[in-house]
Amino acid sequence: MFSRKPTKIHRTLAFRLTLWYAGIFTISSFIAFLLFYLFITSVMRQQTDQDLIKQAGVFSSLQAVEGIDAVKNFAVLEAQASGEKKIFFRLLYPNGSIFSSSNMSYWKDIGISRDAIKQLLLGNRHVFETISISQRSHQVRILYSAITPRIMLQLGQSMETYARFILAFQNIFVITMSALIVVAALIGWFMARRAVSGVESVTRTAQHISEGALEKRVPVAGSGDEIDQLAITFNHMLDRIQSLVTGIKEMSDNIAHDLRSPVTRIRGIAEVTLSTGNCQEEYETMAASTIEECDRLLGMINTMLVISKTEAGVGQLDTEKINLKTVISEACELFQPTAEDRHIDMTCSLPESHIVYGDIRMIQRMIANLIDNAIKYTPPGGSVAVTLTASPHRQSIITISDTGIGISENNLPHIFERFYRCDQSRSENGIGLGLCLARTIARAHGGDITVTSTAGKGSRFTIVLSAF
Ligand code: ADP
Repeated sequence: MFSRKPTKIHRTLAFRLTLWYAGIFTISSFIAFLLFYLFITSVMRQQTDQDLIKQAGVFSSLQAVEGIDAVKNFAVLEAQASGEKKIFFRLLYPNGSIFSSSNMSYWKDIGISRDAIKQLLLGNRHVFETISISQRSHQVRILYSAITPRIMLQLGQSMETYARFILAFQNIFVITMSALIVVAALIGWFMARRAVSGVESVTRTAQHISEGALEKRVPVAGSGDEIDQLAITFNHMLDRIQSLVTGIKEMSDNIAHDLRSPVTRIRGIAEVTLSTGNCQEEYETMAASTIEECDRLLGMINTMLVISKTEAGVGQLDTEKINLKTVISEACELFQPTAEDRHIDMTCSLPESHIVYGDIRMIQRMIANLIDNAIKYTPPGGSVAVTLTASPHRQSIITISDTGIGISENNLPHIFERFYRCDQSRSENGIGLGLCLARTIARAHGGDITVTSTAGKGSRFTIVLSAF
């Protein structure tokens, strides 16, 4: 028997969905953080540069109005006021030699960039550079600016605030990302579990069925989502399998039951003839009876095969356009002599042509079975009427009515079952498969057969087929 092995968690769909969800969520959050970080750092850097340019502008104006000595004094005072570890100034000649500066004891490692001076001499107004000083955690942003054609300014500002912001940002980033990954994994797991719970329910039902419980069905949540569609389709498939399995079981029971009598009869005839028969004539009679019984058996087996194939949809219908009026009038002509022999009045009312799409041999067989029954179960002096009309829903309606023995209320629900025969009809020839075959054919064509009957008064069978 099929035994269930527990699935390793890392191989489950829920686990993989969770990984995908958490992965995508984490990457998206990471990208969002990164973009925010780049934006903020770029704004801060621009802000620093703007501050430096503004300072340089103050130096230029002072030089223009009050001369170089005022600039020197202002530089020293400004550095002291802002903090000598935060800002420094140097005044240079175009050859790079320093002629004045703020207190540079904290900044002594910073030299003069020849390249920057060269660029100023080439006409650039401002030249920026960022340098790192060994053993210090933060960098320094430096602006070179020509305050007159002969005086250059080197203005430096510590990027400590900037570095502190980056550090704080990194800490927030690590904490937030860790929390986000955990939350994303939890949400992902919850959502994945919800999504696959329907699939698990289908699997559980399939498991019960594999253990023999064919009547189990998958619960349908009613949300109409894909899982519901899967459950509905799966349940339909189970209904179909169950009806086929039940059909096969019933049929094998019926075969066992109904084949036994003819086979026993054949064997009995052969046995009696062998033990008592002593002339050619008796052996001939035995052979004739055997052939008759075998024909009955073959007929029964063939009919059962047609029913099974038609029900299972295996024996594909050989469909074509059929004029029902022609088919029915041919059937009536065929049965007219039998009806006359039994002194039954048979009428056929077929006012107009009706075209349907179907297998002509099957349709002929269905109509013949019903007319045959109507004649068979109507005593002499009775009547059988066959009609063909159209319904308002573009359907063709065939009725076969008789004034025969009728069917009792108890028997009525069973007459379409395989091998079912009402007690009062046992005297007539038959195997109890005619109606079953007729209804199977009607249903295979998308139609149906219904019956109304009163015991002792007669029956009326109605075939409904979709018109072409
Ligand atoms: P059968 O070979 O016995 O005719 P069917 O499947 O055709 O098998 O019919 C099943 C049973 O239904 C019959 O045995 C009979 O008892 C009943 N039946 C069918 N048609 C009629 C009818 N027109 N009038 C009365 N009984 C009928």
